[in-house]
Amino acid sequence: MDPWPGAEQCAVLRARLLSWWEDHGRHTIPWTRHAAGGRPGPGEALDPYPIWVAEVMLQQTQLQVVLPFWHRWMERFVCLEALAEADGHDVLLLWQGLGYYSRARRLQQAAVLLQQTCLARGAGDPWPRNLEGWLALPGIGRSTAGSILSSAFDLPYPILDGNVKRVLARLGASAQPPARQLARFWRLSEALLDQQRPRAFNQALMDLGATLCTPRNPSCGLCPWQEHCAAYAAGDPARYPVKDVPRPLPFQVIGVGVVFNSAGEVLIDQRLPEGLLGGLWEFPGGKQEPDEAIETTIARELREELAIEVEVGEQLIVVDHAYSHKKLRFVVHRCRWLAGEPQPLASQQVRWVLPPDLVTYPFPAANARIIAALEQR
Ligand code: SF4
Repeated sequence: MDPWPGAEQCAVLRARLLSWWEDHGRHTIPWTRHAAGGRPGPGEALDPYPIWVAEVMLQQTQLQVVLPFWHRWMERFVCLEALAEADGHDVLLLWQGLGYYSRARRLQQAAVLLQQTCLARGAGDPWPRNLEGWLALPGIGRSTAGSILSSAFDLPYPILDGNVKRVLARLGASAQPPARQLARFWRLSEALLDQQRPRAFNQALMDLGATLCTPRNPSCGLCPWQEHCAAYAAGDPARYPVKDVPRPLPFQVIGVGVVFNSAGEVLIDQRLPEGLLGGLWEFPGGKQEPDEAIETTIARELREELAIEVEVGEQLIVVDHAYSHKKLRFVVHRCRWLAGEPQPLASQQVRWVLPPDLVTYPFPAANARIIAALEQR
């Protein structure tokens, strides 16, 4: 059995973490402060909108990457109403580069829901003050909800994001991956939480994971929990959290055509709204069949998906891209449009666009590299 701390030890851990955090926490994170710049006092509320946006951005992405996106977002969609009424195209364009685009779509869907609920109630405050209210919104899990409730309202809800799972797995030198014992990890996060200062405590826990208890080479010599940490005592803290042996990711080759017409425009299509990259624009193409030449793949896919005939020309670029569940290789060729009015047979819409205008469309990361290759030719 893992050596989880008891109530007395939790109190010591809590006090040590908060004391460390006062001097070493990341106190300049903009959404953890008042708009005017000061730190909120205990029990004082902050505007939930910037916190909610930040927490959704942080779900799959590190703070340093999120910060410039968050600043641009807050300039463009300054409040809940602005996001609810925004054009979906603009929302995706602003998210471009952050990945996991369903987060942006759900953020806007949630903004619409919150605004509708507020209007139905006859104005007032749109923001939920409990777990159920947040979990009812698209794109919000228990940890994100706990983080928003504690950050915005200083309410005592625990969190369990990737950083926190790592810290807690090391604290107890947990012999199993966190994903296999989530209920225990939630109980520990809850047991450690400071009921009087939940906002400060959760932020301190995240800061410990992000700055000292890092995935590789944790700075145990500076850690307020060192003398209680079972992974440190075991002599190899970076061995935790224990992981399951990863399964090899499936690999697929995708033939992609950058199709030009006689006016020098290129053809792009907008993906269907569902799925990981739903609503984004892309250069058309599809999966290579076994023993199929890539030129044949491209011509076939464009015929099947757009009802056009093309002449497949020289290779433009090869882009390897790894998603969490598969690895793709995009083999991209220039093509010349020969016949057939393009039809969106497997997409929302198709459009001919001059190459300099491609930047005004939201593309997945792999397609952004194709655009860069086009600009260099
Ligand atoms: S002692 Fe090291 S491994 Fe343990 S919690 Fe602190 S930084 Fe992490």
